[in-house]
Amino acid sequence: MLLQNKQVAIVGGGPGGLSTARLLQIKGAQVTVYERDVNQEARVQGATLDLHEESGLEALRRAGLIDAFYSHHRPDAGKLRLVDKHAVIMLDDHTAETAYAEDRPEIDRGPLRKILMGSLKPGTIVWDSQFVSMDKHQEGWVLHFRNGQSAYADVVIAADGANSSIRPYLTSIQPVYSGVTIVEGNLYHAAKHAPALNDLVKGGKVFAFGDEQSLILSAKGDGCLSFYTGCKVPETWMRESGIDFTSRDAVRTWFMSAFGTWDPVWQELFASDELYFIPRPQYHYPLDQTWPAHPNLTMLGDAAHRMPPYAGEGVNMAMQDAFELADCLTSDEYPDLQTAIEVYEKQMRLRAMEITRVTLENTALLHATDALDNMVAMMQG
Ligand SMILES: Cc1cc2nc3c(=O)[nH]c(=O)nc-3n(C[C@H](O)[C@H](O)[C@H](O)COP(=O)(O)OP(=O)(O)OC[C@H]3O[C@@H](n4cnc5c(N)ncnc54)[C@H](O)[C@@H]3O)c2cc1C
Repeated sequence: MLLQNKQVAIVGGGPGGLSTARLLQIKGAQVTVYERDVNQEARVQGATLDLHEESGLEALRRAGLIDAFYSHHRPDAGKLRLVDKHAVIMLDDHTAETAYAEDRPEIDRGPLRKILMGSLKPGTIVWDSQFVSMDKHQEGWVLHFRNGQSAYADVVIAADGANSSIRPYLTSIQPVYSGVTIVEGNLYHAAKHAPALNDLVKGGKVFAFGDEQSLILSAKGDGCLSFYTGCKVPETWMRESGIDFTSRDAVRTWFMSAFGTWDPVWQELFASDELYFIPRPQYHYPLDQTWPAHPNLTMLGDAAHRMPPYAGEGVNMAMQDAFELADCLTSDEYPDLQTAIEVYEKQMRLRAMEITRVTLENTALLHATDALDNMVAMMQG
């Protein structure tokens, strides 16, 4: 095996990094995951994820974790209601004969992360290790972390997400702004604080459209309601709007103005003090991005191909990268690691190019004047 006697460092313990670690360990590779979070109790935020047969679910199948997935997935979480800005339901998976989500089972991010972490050898994950830089050393790299620690690895895999700190060691290609910025939020104890919206979401998802804007709500298994707005604003809006995103009142004031023609029911999203917000301008990489393969450094997931969430593919792509990369790195087919990395990166870029193209089409469709009609037509096939 190409990785015989080699130490692999995976930077980032998201779904992409953890899946890669598991798949490499199954093949006997020595792997360490360096994760920025302080410990495994760090609250995992974000909406539920639907995993697709050929990508996310296939990664779990190969990792021997598909039964664990099905014992934690939430069968109703993918049930979708399409509504207009007045919260009037236009299409409802809860009453439809065939639900859109049936072949795309959903799981919360927290349980998915737990399943993947629990499958790794003890001590694989080194917490509180925020990568800051690395230097070439002998045949490999010495990685430096914010906590002052350093570590050597023969092979480095960047799985550190959309704002990857390792990507610049591979390429200087910059991301392109998609034209849409998301404000992501998480409302705890939704049944208590937002009863009307909690009923509307009904344990599943609500997609609302109006005025070329979107609002997507997901119920989580722990009683939270996660949501994200989508607005067409300039790339600099997050910095220049002057909004203090740590302040509920500031974000509510902005929401009441930006979504001022929407039904007041949506304002329930701001009913509790226990809230957090993250503004996320949405970027993608140029469809034809390419870079030369390195002998001992590569990347996967959002680090390689960040994109807006409007095709629900980000996590699925990251997990498909994981099994394709693990296959290449542990195959006997290639003469050396650089060739194995080159084969992986070529197929990964091609796949990501197509998915990014579809994602950008969806981003435009869902923020068009006739977004709701577009979405109803899409759902009805
Ligand atoms: C609002 C929103 C909704 C989304 N909805 C969906 C959806 O429905 N379906 C879907 O498939 N995708 C969705 N996505 C996209 C999906 O979340 C990502 O594509 C996916 O998480 C990428 O996985 P990853 O492992 O590459 O990166 P991440 O999940 O971002 O994981 C990166 C990890 O690296 C760690 N890290 C970061 N920097 C460092 C550092 N310097 N040193 C060490 N560790 C570091 C982070 O703490 C994190 O644990 C959504 C994204 C957003 C923002």
